[in-house]
Amino acid sequence: MAIDDSPSSFFSPWPDRLRHSAIILLAAGLALTVLVAFGGLSPLRATAVFACIAAAALVPWRLHNAAASREDVRGVNPVETAAVSAIVAGMPDPAVLLDRAGRVIHLNAAAAQLAPALRRNELAQFALRSPEIITALREAIATTEARRATYLDHVPVDRWMELIITPVPVPTLFGGTDKCMLMTFHDQTPLRRVEEMRADFVANASHELRTPLAALSGFIDTLQGPAKDDAKARERFLGIMHTQATRMARLIDDLLSLSRVELSAHVRPDTLVDIVPIIRQVADGLEPLARERQVVIDIDLPDAPVSIAGDREELLRLFENLIENALKYGASGGKVIVSLTSAMSGEGAPEVRVIVRDFGPGIAPEHLPRLTERFYRVDVGDSRAQGGTGLGLSLVKHIVNRHRGRLLIESVLKHGATFTACFPQAKIPDST
Ligand code: ADP
Repeated sequence: MAIDDSPSSFFSPWPDRLRHSAIILLAAGLALTVLVAFGGLSPLRATAVFACIAAAALVPWRLHNAAASREDVRGVNPVETAAVSAIVAGMPDPAVLLDRAGRVIHLNAAAAQLAPALRRNELAQFALRSPEIITALREAIATTEARRATYLDHVPVDRWMELIITPVPVPTLFGGTDKCMLMTFHDQTPLRRVEEMRADFVANASHELRTPLAALSGFIDTLQGPAKDDAKARERFLGIMHTQATRMARLIDDLLSLSRVELSAHVRPDTLVDIVPIIRQVADGLEPLARERQVVIDIDLPDAPVSIAGDREELLRLFENLIENALKYGASGGKVIVSLTSAMSGEGAPEVRVIVRDFGPGIAPEHLPRLTERFYRVDVGDSRAQGGTGLGLSLVKHIVNRHRGRLLIESVLKHGATFTACFPQAKIPDST
């Protein structure tokens, strides 16, 4: 923002009162010089008279300066004014410097965008709409103390903003200070979103745990009471209790895995692992489930090792989730293909792709972008019936991210789903 402080004459950058004093001193000096030259006044007397006039002219200015009025702030050294203006202009968040009455001295471009009605030399209260800001500003002006306010801004989109008003002493030309106020605005929306996500996560996790827990305690009550001597019912209830307990254990397991992967998200695994035997091990382990669901797992893997920089345990978890989902949700297709290829990423980097394809009902396009959100399921009942926790794909996404890879999900309704985990190809260390 430009500052209109360019001096148009020798005196123009000086504050009014100082300018008047300087003119009086100049006139007195001239008159005394004439009196010494032509009127016989001795130079010693002339100097004494000049000193008296100088003191009389400058004392009111000094007193005025000590009072540190608003005019003082306007009268700061132009270099300092420019520096203050440059600091306000350079602040990344919207910032407005006010004098002690609440008039705008400087504002940066971000503040002008946030509150287009703000004008230099005008009272900020009249340009700001939110009652929270106006209250905070009034209090800050009345007390000259720091104030904070949080408010919801609706233009151009809903944003949670925090206003901080900080009193700042601004130096005046003759060594005094005047207490101005710096208003800075901070967008709190991302923080609020994270906070909401955290609260949602805790609510979801508690709900997911409470459901099997309620079933367990319900069956315990029944077994201790009405079904005490009913051997058949006991057998059946114990079976259900086992399923519920397994579900709880699985949920806790997934929650812990998720938090472990999140904690190490910034550390990329650096051990070279051959993923071919890892995929084979997972597919072999899921063979009983495939048989139970009458699905054939078709494995198309190279004979040669394919190494990536990876964490073996996490990769086991990743492929287990993808293949198990294909067996559970795509069982009606009767076949799951697990294959591995090498390809170039969009940026032209070589990558390894593990593709898990099923021929089941597929996933409607509106669900695809949300599938990797925690606890997101297309059909909650179906997921629960399959022993799902709603955390599997979220875990897959986190593991892929930690490996600096990508997860692609493609699906056409009634034609199955394809999940592709892409990993950067490992740079084999030069043995020469
Ligand atoms: P869950 O524990 O419920 O399986 P996931 O995070 O693994 O949780 O999957 C989220 C949801 O995505 C599932 O509930 C299911 O609705 C859907 N889904 C995942 N894989 C497939 C698939 N191969 N075919 C159809 N739907 C799928």
